Order: sequence, then structure tokens, then C-alpha cells
Amino acid sequence: MGKKNKRKLEAGTLAIHAGYHPDASGAVNPPIYQSSTFAFRDAEHGARLFKGEEAGWIYTRIGNPTIRALEDNIAALEGGARGMACSSGMAASNTLFFALLGKGDHVIVTDAVYGPTRLVLESHWNRFGVELSAVDTSDLDKVRAAVKSNTRMLFIETPANPTLKVTDIAGCSEIARKIGAVLVVDNTFMSPVLQRPFEHGADIVLHSVTKFINGHSDVVGGLIVFREEPGYELVYKPWYMLGATMDPHQAYLVYRGVKSLQLRALLAQENARMIAKFLEQHSAVASVAYPGLKSHPQRKLHKRQADGPGSLISFELKGGLKAGVKLMNSVKLMTLAVSLGGIETLIQHPASMTHAGMTPEQRQAAGITDGLVRLSVGCEDVDDLLDDVEQALS
Ligand SMILES: *Cc1c(COP(=O)(O)O)cnc(C)c1O
Repeated sequence: MGKKNKRKLEAGTLAIHAGYHPDASGAVNPPIYQSSTFAFRDAEHGARLFKGEEAGWIYTRIGNPTIRALEDNIAALEGGARGMACSSGMAASNTLFFALLGKGDHVIVTDAVYGPTRLVLESHWNRFGVELSAVDTSDLDKVRAAVKSNTRMLFIETPANPTLKVTDIAGCSEIARKIGAVLVVDNTFMSPVLQRPFEHGADIVLHSVTKFINGHSDVVGGLIVFREEPGYELVYKPWYMLGATMDPHQAYLVYRGVKSLQLRALLAQENARMIAKFLEQHSAVASVAYPGLKSHPQRKLHKRQADGPGSLISFELKGGLKAGVKLMNSVKLMTLAVSLGGIETLIQHPASMTHAGMTPEQRQAAGITDGLVRLSVGCEDVDDLLDDVEQALS
């Protein structure tokens, strides 16, 4: 998969080096330009910057050197043209909806997408006349059937949250191209170390950097990457008009986190493979959803478009919801918390937590059963994690 990558360097190298080179001070890490505004050399200089005749910094909501280092780093990792940092993952998706959709436009979204992504379209963007179809995008026929004459955007998440159903990125790209719609891929679950949607025809990639990219559960942030410069240009003004910008200190922390992205993603994935296998053979477990298991119905598709199965596992206990609650209350090392992609292992219950905003019918249709438990496997020693799951299950 990585072979047809148009990036010049590999992910581990880019994560450490892309976006910043020591400046005149020699500082190995990007200085935190904690300044809302930047001084002009003279009135003419200021006027040239505003006219766009000269590159430079004006005001942090519309650009800042520390933030730029992070934007360039993630853009390089994804193999895209430009990055755009946002205050959160939701700020990133809302920036795209604000910039690219209007009254009478229609968007198709993965039904089991990150809960608030679907909710904000359903209960807020619809107030401004944006139409939504939430469909099981893992079935391309359903995507085709949902297309309307006013479809402007396909917004997919693969693997989806928390069902781990896989959507064919190239297949969706083909559909989007035919109807002149933009394909947005939320790549939060995989990170660019494991999946680079531009290689399969995506136009825009979105990240909640809160998760794997920052990786330490201490920052909320988002990032949009555009495959081509014109896409960036189209969204740039709406982004800074909306005020969805990241803060320089936030950007510095995420830049610090991304340096170890590959180390963390690969180690967590190895841990997850072992835990998924352990869960699958355990007598208390009814089913396990993990793209790395032979039992995953779309394992081959996932393998075609990603470099690994990642570190999120969903599973169902034979005792259903009651047993799931008991399990979450019995783990000792794992932390009962939402979010994912951190260095520590987190466990949560989607039906009562991340996806509680959906109606029971919507959850059922999206395959989010009441007994489903989601595990975001971290980088602890796997033997300790296995001991914890084992004692909690018994
Ligand atoms: C967390 C998450 C988001 C939203 O990101 P925030 O940083 O919490 O705003 C979007 N998509 C996915 C897949 C997520 O996991």
C-alpha cells in the first residue's frame, strides 16, 4: 500500500521532521509564537500583506508560524497539498460544512460516523437548509441509491465508529467524481501512519488530532488536509471567518505529540491484535469487531486501503448490556473514558456514552447494539492489558 505513496519520506521520518526546520536561533522545536498579532515593518509592509502581495504574518486567527508547522507536518504525512488547523475535530468538520455546503445542498454521511458529526448535520445544519442522508456507506449500492441531483458532499469514516465497518474509499471517490461532489474522509481512527485516503481518491481528509495524532489525551484539536491547493483556497476564508482556528500553544503540543505517532500507532496496533484474538476465543464474548481478525467481513477491503487494522476493537459480551457494564466496572488498568487514540487504554460503552445522542432506532440501524463495548488499546505492556481483560471478564 505504502508503495504508491507520493510522499518522499516515510511516515516515521515525516512525523519527526516535516513542517519545521531549526530557525535562526537553532531551536530544535518550533517556538511557541504566543502572540495574537504581528508587527508590520512599516505602513507599506502592512498594506502589502493585506493585499496578499507578500507572505507574512498578520493576525493569529488567520495564520501563525507555530500553527503552520503543525499544518505542514500533517499535510506531509497525509501526502496532501495544505493543512488547516482547527480548534477541535468538530470545528474542522463544521468548517467544511460551512465552507462547502449551502441551502438546498445534500450530504451523504456514514451512518455510524462519529456521533456529533451526524447530530450537528441532523439538528443544526438542517436549520440552514442542508439535507442529510445517513447511510451504511460500507455498501456502495446504498451510497449510489442515496445520491440526489443536489448531492455536494460524501462524508465517510472508515473504519466507522464504533462498529468498525469498512467503507471503500476508492469506490466512494468514483461515485463522488461522477456527480461532481467532494469526498471527505474522517481518518481519525487510522491516522496517516496506517491509512492515507488521498491515495484512494479522497479530496479532503479530516482529523480529530485529539486522538492518535496528539496521542496523549491532553489536547483537543482538529486538522483538515486538502489534496490540492484550490481546495484549501476555497475553505481558507470561511475558516478564519468562522473563527475555528487552533491556538499556538495547542499547536505546539500537538506537534510535540505527532513526533511519536508512528511509534505509538504501531505498538498500540500490536497490542490490539493480541487482545482481539484473546477476546475472540473467550467464552464470555459473543462477537468481536476488529479489521485484523479473519472473522471481519471486510478484512480484505481494509487491507487493500490501509496498512494495518489499527487499535480500536468493539466487542459484545454474551451477557449483553448488563455484562458490559459489569466489565467496565471491573477493569483496573484500563480507564473508563470516552475518546480514543491516546497512549493509555480506554474502554467505553457507545450506546450510553458517545452515541447516546442517537435514537435507539438510529443506533440499531447503524449496528450499534446496547451490549457493544469499545476498546481503544494503548501502549501499555500487552501482558498487563491481557491480565486486566482476563480478570475483568472472569
Ligand atoms: C473525536 C472525533 C471527532 C471530533 O473531534 P473533537 O476533537 O472531539 O472535536 C471526529 N471524528 C472522529 C472519528 C472522532 O473520533
